[in-house]
Amino acid sequence: MKTKEIQGKMPQVEKTPVTRRLQDKLNYDELSNCMRCGFCLPACPTYRETGREASSPRGRIALMKAAVDGHLQNGKQLEDQLNQCLGCRACEPACPAGVKYGELLEQARDALEDHARHKVWVRVLRRFFFHFLFPHPKRLRWLGRLLIIYQKTGLQWLLRKLGFLKLLPSYLREMEAVMPAAASKGVAEQLGNFIPAQGKKKGTVGLFRGCVMDVLFTETNINTVTLLSEAGFDVVIPPQQTCCGALHAHSGEREMARSLARQNIQAFKQREVDYIVSNAGGCGALLQEYEHLLEDECEAKEARWFSERVKDISELLLDHGPVEKWGTLEARITYQASCHLQNVMQVKEQPRQLLRQIKGATYVELFEADRCCGSAGIYNLTQPEMSARILDEKMKHVRATKADILVTSNPGCLLQMKAGIQRAGLSDHMKAIHVVDLLAEVRQKGESRY
Ligand code: SF4
Ligand code: SF4
Repeated sequence: MKTKEIQGKMPQVEKTPVTRRLQDKLNYDELSNCMRCGFCLPACPTYRETGREASSPRGRIALMKAAVDGHLQNGKQLEDQLNQCLGCRACEPACPAGVKYGELLEQARDALEDHARHKVWVRVLRRFFFHFLFPHPKRLRWLGRLLIIYQKTGLQWLLRKLGFLKLLPSYLREMEAVMPAAASKGVAEQLGNFIPAQGKKKGTVGLFRGCVMDVLFTETNINTVTLLSEAGFDVVIPPQQTCCGALHAHSGEREMARSLARQNIQAFKQREVDYIVSNAGGCGALLQEYEHLLEDECEAKEARWFSERVKDISELLLDHGPVEKWGTLEARITYQASCHLQNVMQVKEQPRQLLRQIKGATYVELFEADRCCGSAGIYNLTQPEMSARILDEKMKHVRATKADILVTSNPGCLLQMKAGIQRAGLSDHMKAIHVVDLLAEVRQKGESRY
C-alpha cells in the first residue's frame, strides 16, 4: 500500500520537500512493521564493520521513519546511511516480522534522488550509464568494440607499461586488472535467436541475456544456452529485451526501472516461454520482483506472468542437466553466494548441489559464504573503502578453504572475487569462475573422452 493512502495515520508535521517526497513514496505500514528487536543486526555487513546502530537495518529504518515523521529536517544523515547500505538484503531472511527492507530502501532512494544535488560530473555519469548506455544493447555493443580496441591493440599493455594506470584510484586499478575480454557480438548474434532442444524436448526457455553481461560475459551466456539446449530445452532469445533495471531501481531511478520492466515483459510475453532464465543473481532477483515493481499499474497481471516464470540457471540445470554424466575435475572447489540469488530468489542449495555432483572434485563450504562480498552493483565504485574492508574479511575465509576454484553465480561478485584473489596474493593457485562456465568446462572434458 502506498503511503498516500494512509496519510491519516501520519503525524502532522511541517513538511520540507524531503519529508513530502518520503511521505509520498515510502510505505508507512511497512516502516511501522519494524518492532526494533535487533535480530537483523548480526546479519548486516555494515553494522558488523562499524558497530554503529545507524549503519544497521534497524537504524536505517528508524532514520527513514524519523524523516517521514518530520523529526529529521535535513535528509543528509539518512542519505549517507542509505548510500552506505549494500542493498544485500541479508537483513530480510533474519527478520521475524518479515519487514521488506529492500522495498523500503528502493522507495527511500527514489524519494531522495528526486532532490539530490549531485555534482555535475556525477549527474553526467548517471545520465550516461542509466539512460544513454544500459537500456540500449546496440550502444553497449559499441562499448564492447571500444574495449576490444583497448584490450587487443596493445593500448592496455602500453598504458600499463607507462604506469599511466597508477594515476587511477586503487579500486579502479584493481577492477581494470580483472576486467574480462569484451566481445563485439553478443549471444544472439553468435547463436541466433532460437536454439532447438537436443533430444526429447522438455520445454521452452527464454534467455535473459543482460546488458553488461552480454558484452563482458558473452561466453557465460553462450555456455548457458548450450547447457540448456543439451538439457532438453528450446532456447529463445527475444531481441527486444533490454537491461533488467536493477542498477536503476537500486539507485533511485525507479521510473526508468519500471519502463525497462515493461519492455522486457512485452519481449518475453510474445514468445510464450515456460521459463525465463537468468544467470546473474542481481538481474534475476529484480526480474522476479517486476510484479512488485509494477503492482500499482495496469501491467500488474502481465508482470505476474513474467515474474512467476523467472528461474536461475542452476535451478533448471539441477533438475535437468546430467552433471554426473559429464567429465571429471580433480580440484578443490568452494562457492561464494550471490546475495540477491539467495536472499531474494531463495536459491541457496542448487549451485552447491551442482558443484557437489562434479566427479573427482572436492567441495568445501566457505565460512560465511552467505555474507556479501562488497561488490553490490556499483557499491565497490561508490563506497570503495567499506567495500574493501568487507572484501578483505571475505578473503580471509576464502584463503582458509585452500580451494583451487572459487565459484560464484553473478558477474559483479565474480569480478569482486577476481580482484580479491589478486589482492590477497592467491592468484598463482586459485581462480574465480562463474558456475555455468565451470559446468561447461566439465561437460567438455566429458565430451573429449569419447
Ligand atoms: S529484525 Fe526486523 S523487526 Fe527486528 S529490528 Fe530488524 S528489521 Fe526491525
Ligand atoms: S541490505 Fe545489507 S547492508 Fe543494507 S541494511 Fe540490510 S543487511 Fe545491512
